Amino acid sequence: MSTQSAEKAPLFSDEMEKGFNLTLAVEEAARCLLCFDAPCSQACPAGTDPGSFIRKTRFRNVTGAIRTIKQNNPFGWSCGVVCPTAKLCELACSRTAIDRPIQIGKLQRFLVEHGWAIGFQPVKKVAEVKEKVAVVGSGPAGLTCARELSLKGYEVTVFEKKNLPGGNLRYGIPSFRLSTKGLEKEINEIGALGVNIETNSPVEGTDGLEKLKQQGFKAVFFSPGLWDPIRLDIEGSTLEGVVSATAFLNGLNTSDAAVETAVKGKVAAVIGGGSVAMDAAEWAVKAGAEDVYLLYRRSYTQMPAEEKEKVQALNNGIHFLILAQPVKYNGSDHLESISCRRTRLGAPDASGRRRPEEIPGTEFEITADFAIEALASRSEEGLQALAGISWNNAGLVEVSDETLQTSSPWVYSGGDITRGPALVVEAVADGKRAAQAIMEHLNGKGE
Ligand SMILES: Cc1cc2nc3c(=O)[nH]c(=O)nc-3n(C[C@H](O)[C@H](O)[C@H](O)COP(=O)(O)OP(=O)(O)OC[C@H]3O[C@@H](n4cnc5c(N)ncnc54)[C@H](O)[C@@H]3O)c2cc1C
Ligand code: SF4
Repeated sequence: MSTQSAEKAPLFSDEMEKGFNLTLAVEEAARCLLCFDAPCSQACPAGTDPGSFIRKTRFRNVTGAIRTIKQNNPFGWSCGVVCPTAKLCELACSRTAIDRPIQIGKLQRFLVEHGWAIGFQPVKKVAEVKEKVAVVGSGPAGLTCARELSLKGYEVTVFEKKNLPGGNLRYGIPSFRLSTKGLEKEINEIGALGVNIETNSPVEGTDGLEKLKQQGFKAVFFSPGLWDPIRLDIEGSTLEGVVSATAFLNGLNTSDAAVETAVKGKVAAVIGGGSVAMDAAEWAVKAGAEDVYLLYRRSYTQMPAEEKEKVQALNNGIHFLILAQPVKYNGSDHLESISCRRTRLGAPDASGRRRPEEIPGTEFEITADFAIEALASRSEEGLQALAGISWNNAGLVEVSDETLQTSSPWVYSGGDITRGPALVVEAVADGKRAAQAIMEHLNGKGE
């Protein structure tokens, strides 16, 4: 299939903030201390190797820098844009001791874009044709694994349930943060290596994996992500106007005008305090909500969202209602208001964070005619029926830490389905690791 998506025209153009140009990129790279055993490189879960590509940029070997990024990470551009660098490579950067870290994500993004602008192709396939491998799910984990195997000559088919590839890069992360055009360039690069992406092709049913075996696939990488949103179990949650962040973001990322209409001019309440909640709140503002509240049951500092996302949300006029949680959605057919209760922090729970407790007698009501629940997501119900692989109590696939092999020796798994909600760069890391283990397995070294 073609990975071009003429069908997709985001409601809001891909209006990402501007990045570096060549002069600014070289100037930024010149601030690098050229550390021995670069701490930034050690801090990248996917081994993108900033120390090396920054050094090359500094000495004006720009194509060499682009090659370093793209050989190590097929989603080098996407990671440059969405990685929480302040918690990873930039946190480790030695330059921080002098003034501020090198802007590694921004440099990485620029270099890949520069490669596209000059038509540079940094990765080429060289190997002869080998066995057939199947990949379930076309998110960053699946597509990375597919590319790594394809580069080594394996005949890879990616089976994707949705009608376009990319997983949460396309359907979750808003296109104003990660432009669809850039994402499609990275996906098309993978397709150009000969990876076959079959969309609208879910792998499901008890015999889903067995059928792949019958089709001649010698190994499987299973990376379907987590797509079943956890919902609040309170009165009124079936009212019209109460939706999950998954549905809301999917709709806006795929041009569903109905979602925009549903929120336009409304008072929206987003429930949750993570990055997904921030994305949903930002989109509600962009989609024309009159007012957007963010309801979170713990404290501001306990919010899992990044500091810069929180500050940006506050600057965009989103009203934070912290230490408060919804207890009832009110309305006849459609949501009209939300009854909430104040919370206070009690003793620490298993995660080490202080547990929120409702304070009796503190009920209050906010007017809201649209509510977006941005809690967590879990694996889709039917998936666990797939015979042959073991799942843990948290509903995640059990794998060997070292090889990502499941209880079924020919099936490997990674990304959110094994880690729980994680990061793009971690999905890329899993895709690389599993590809390596699959190759060893097929060469008879992995048994
Ligand atoms: C709103 C949102 C914002 C985020 N923001 C960031 C961010 O800023 N930075 C960051 O690093 N991470 C972010 N993440 C997390 C990141 O997107 C995920 O960690 C990452 O996409 C996980 O990759 P994956 O390949 O494991 O799964 P996914 O990206 O979920 O892809 C799985 C794919 O498998 C497909 N699939 C499911 N079931 C089947 C089946 N039975 N058969 C075939 N295909 C199937 C799905 O349709 C999907 O395309 C965000 C996530 C969300 C939801
Ligand atoms: S840690 Fe910072 S200063 Fe050191 S090599 Fe990496 S980017 Fe350069």
